[in-house]
Amino acid sequence: MVLSGILLLLSNADDTFHMNDLPYMLIIVGLMLIITVTILLQKESSLLCRVGFHKYERIGWDEEMPNLEVVKCQRCNKEKKVMRTF
Ligand SMILES: [Zn+2]
Repeated sequence: MVLSGILLLLSNADDTFHMNDLPYMLIIVGLMLIITVTILLQKESSLLCRVGFHKYERIGWDEEMPNLEVVKCQRCNKEKKVMRTF
């Protein structure tokens, strides 16, 4: 009885404009969540990158400074120059 009452309530509420807006609201909330997670992951990624958790591959040497190695992050494709002292 309670369940059918809820279902009746839901089907009635479906005709109101609030319920019609719900799918759009869910899409907006979902998009906002995705954007937030993406930003958080990017921040974490750059933080991990700066700390040195990411793997770098050597793509070349600096033209002006021979002991400057140009490396590229394999995860976020960021390039940076690393001093090779040995
Ligand atoms: Zn990285």
